[in-house]
Amino acid sequence: MKIDTTLKKTFGFKKFRPHQKEIISQLLEGRDVFASLPTGGGKSICYQLPALHMEGITIVLSPLVALMKDQVDGARESGIEAYCLNSSLSAADSSHVYRALENNQVKLLYISPERFAIDEFIETLKRFKVDFVAVDEAHCVSEWGHDFRPDYLSLSRIREHFPGAVIAAFTATATLKVQEDIISLLKLNNPYTVRASFNRQELYYRIVPKNGANKQISDFICKHKNQSGIVYRLSRADVEKTASYLSGKGIRALPYHAGLPTKTREKNQDLFNRDEVDVVVATIAFGMGIDKSNIRYVIHGDLPKSIEGYYQETGRAGRDGMKSECLLLYSGGDISKIHFFIDKIRDEKEKKRASRNLNNMASLASVNVCRRKQILEYFDEDHEGNCGSCDICNGEAEQVDGTEDAQKILSAIIRTNQVFGIAHIIDIVRGADTEKIRKFGHNEIKTWGVGKEKSKSWWRSIINELIGQKHIFQDRDHYNSLKINSSGAEILYGRSPFVVLMKKETKQEEKLSFREVDYNENLFARLKEIRTELAREKGLPPYIVFSDKTLKEMSSLKPDDETAMLRVSGVGERKMEQYGYFFLKEIRIFLGYK
Ligand code: ADP
Ligand code: ZN
Repeated sequence: MKIDTTLKKTFGFKKFRPHQKEIISQLLEGRDVFASLPTGGGKSICYQLPALHMEGITIVLSPLVALMKDQVDGARESGIEAYCLNSSLSAADSSHVYRALENNQVKLLYISPERFAIDEFIETLKRFKVDFVAVDEAHCVSEWGHDFRPDYLSLSRIREHFPGAVIAAFTATATLKVQEDIISLLKLNNPYTVRASFNRQELYYRIVPKNGANKQISDFICKHKNQSGIVYRLSRADVEKTASYLSGKGIRALPYHAGLPTKTREKNQDLFNRDEVDVVVATIAFGMGIDKSNIRYVIHGDLPKSIEGYYQETGRAGRDGMKSECLLLYSGGDISKIHFFIDKIRDEKEKKRASRNLNNMASLASVNVCRRKQILEYFDEDHEGNCGSCDICNGEAEQVDGTEDAQKILSAIIRTNQVFGIAHIIDIVRGADTEKIRKFGHNEIKTWGVGKEKSKSWWRSIINELIGQKHIFQDRDHYNSLKINSSGAEILYGRSPFVVLMKKETKQEEKLSFREVDYNENLFARLKEIRTELAREKGLPPYIVFSDKTLKEMSSLKPDDETAMLRVSGVGERKMEQYGYFFLKEIRIFLGYK
């Protein structure tokens, strides 16, 4: 059978995504593969599909036991004989798997890397014909990656244990250094190498000044009712606060951070997976284990520490390829908060790297250049800008000349000898009559009260911007007093302008809640309910039954018989048999059939 046919019959897809076909063909010709594809690029099919065309077993090494079950369930829903072996299985369940192996009933076997380190286990596996070993999240083998796992080192013996098998490594994060590491550690033999574009065109990037984070977050979520989303916060305390703020607004939200008991964390993640809650508010501890394909937005309530982190976290939205939004609330003040952590790093090299990462991130947030272009250039990928899918390219942000206001602040800093912090400088500019002002005679200086007509938060945002653009900095060794850099002096003396990006006060946002296909929303809502019910009955996450994308296509095409239903992307033969009928019935009712 041709691989195109298998793609439709088993997975229900009409076309391969970029690189999938080449990867699969090469594997079937017996060549090793190294592939770095962005999240949502469709890596699973790159090993699940060739497995179906091979005689023996395909082993998939996957780092997260928690994720394995969903992956196996997903494969089984498509009719693939998939099993897993890991430490969470009971003895009875394990022997069930071994029996299946003996009876030649296993196509895909998911195992964890720590299992792979057990010699006895490997010896058992060697009794079977293993044709293909796929290593998922392969960057975990590299100490250069951000997710190094010592367990993964045992994978360097795959070649030795299974000399007859073809090996493939898949990852979503690979600098060239990590790529080299993976290829050499796994001993890939002249691998067919794919480095896909990291562009996630389906993601809309928007960065706005932070100004009452909780309210901003809840306003955004209210405009995205019943959609799944993640809110990232820097600290555990803020995670808790934001989660309860959202709950107070009637939003179904739960917290997730490393301080919660494992049980609670697992439960919260599971409820999210099953669409029983809409929002998880989390620290970055909420990470790799998220395979949910219908996350429609990711909000960052605080500045991420690096562009790489921002890219990974926002990348969790839109895995199904549907438009999704990324909102970052930015304040220059976050920079000093993060610096506080960086200062505690002992290793000098590490400290420098952290600081450089932060600078890159701050510049992504504050420079008037297409966000996508900046992100991709960070990954050494050229992009011409004008992506049409970020706030800069859409003219959502406008440049405002803030030179005069900046000069007022800078002058207040200079005239008070650069030894006071943010709050006091704002008091001076606003002409406050505080004890501290009187004590130092700051009501006598020329700058006192020159900015009365503007609000405290306005002045704070100007200062944050000055910090963000590095015209001034907070001297952490001297009570966070504000100090002026040489570029700040240029502004003060009128030799260079100070430009700030401000959000335009238009109704842009409504317009930007885009719709991809013209689908019937009522029907979509009804199909979603059916999906939830079926998923509950079977104890599966709803997105495994059908993705949002598939349901939207159904609500757009409104197939009224089996043939038409099979044309919908994501409906394969097995799923048609299992679930198709329930959805057809609902569509036919919707169309008024008797
Ligand atoms: P990754 O592991 O690379 O992040 P997945 O394998 O989870 O990505 O795939 C992401 C989503 O894309 C899944 O919902 C999957 O079913 C879907 N998908 C994969 N390949 C195709 C394809 N050729 N056509 C349509 N959808 C696809
Ligand atoms: Zn852009």
